[in-house]
Amino acid sequence: MPVKEMLPLSLLNDYLYCPRRAALKIMEGWRAENSHTVRGDIVHEHADLPGYEVAKNVTLLRALPVFSDRLGLSGKCDVIERHADGSLLPVEYKKGKRRQFENDDAQLCAQALCLEEMFGFPIQCGAVFHAESKRRREVLFTPELRGLTEQAISQLRQLVDAGRVPPAQFKPACEECSLFKICLPRVTSLPASLGRAAARLFET
Ligand code: SF4
Repeated sequence: MPVKEMLPLSLLNDYLYCPRRAALKIMEGWRAENSHTVRGDIVHEHADLPGYEVAKNVTLLRALPVFSDRLGLSGKCDVIERHADGSLLPVEYKKGKRRQFENDDAQLCAQALCLEEMFGFPIQCGAVFHAESKRRREVLFTPELRGLTEQAISQLRQLVDAGRVPPAQFKPACEECSLFKICLPRVTSLPASLGRAAARLFET
């Protein structure tokens, strides 16, 4: 079986936010900061330092590298809780209030799929910790979420294998996207004729 190119686990979150965003990052190497990414970096600052601590019979493993040969994914978990019964529970830190995001849940589920392959036992649930509201939301790795996650991973790989950045489609999420000024979705999602006219405005 050919070896799959490992894709960054966090790219799955980007893909579910917007396939063009994932493509701009992985194919063209674009990175950019905005207030949302800076706040996200601050939230991850502590969780990004590898190490462990024990509290109330729970061992907290920070920044543990994870991978899956089957899915062709690698990355790291912000925190993994190891409970007294031996169960593992991945926790993902997110900026913002407690809300449900399909992309956060899928990213967490992908971490669980990696852990299951690495350790050989099932991971039943994880949690998303929302920094702004300081609340955590439990995420059950249901068959539906597992199916959605594996489907998204497969679509992400098809996108990467195709090697083409999809066109922009302007949507409310664009306003919060750190690649907004690189992507220019209002211009690049115009019909082709209008796009050419807009491009001519910048010709010298
Ligand atoms: S600005 Fe909008 S279309 Fe462009 S990458 Fe971001 S979310 Fe996608």
